[in-house]
Amino acid sequence: MSNIEQTLSIIKPDAVERNIDNEIKQMFKNKGFSVVKEKKIQIEKSEAEKFYKVHETKPFYNDLCSYLSSGPIVVMVLEKENAVLDNRKLMGATNPKDAEEGTIRRKYGISIDKNSVHGSDSDENAKIEIDFFFRD
Ligand code: UDP
Ligand code: MG
Repeated sequence: MSNIEQTLSIIKPDAVERNIDNEIKQMFKNKGFSVVKEKKIQIEKSEAEKFYKVHETKPFYNDLCSYLSSGPIVVMVLEKENAVLDNRKLMGATNPKDAEEGTIRRKYGISIDKNSVHGSDSDENAKIEIDFFFRD
């Protein structure tokens, strides 16, 4: 039985700034993801605060929201079978130091905060996050 899903991916400012967004997008395509929606934008800090609201009690919340709004990002809807989990696998661990060989964060991540990509962590959050950026 097929389980075609969509998930939200963000190429974060550290990666867009280094002009590696196309290389990262190619890694998704090589793993069978289709990019069904895409836009390059810069968001306000207040929008980043809404997007990352689940982390509002965390010590890194303020820096995280400043960072996500610090420069252009590429926001994409990725689609394939088991997209949510497979995207998390392809991204690798939150801290690039812990990310496995072959993952985006291992290859491109600079540090735990500048870790190049965001990906939805559940099907439910994928729907919420896609709606957040592509409601229209
Ligand atoms: N983050 C951070 N310091 C930490 C943990 C997380 O700066 O100690 C940042 C990091 O950029 C991460 C984001 O907060 O990608 C969201 O954290 P989460 O635990 O949801 O990690 P992710 O789902 O991105 O792997
Ligand atoms: Mg997360």
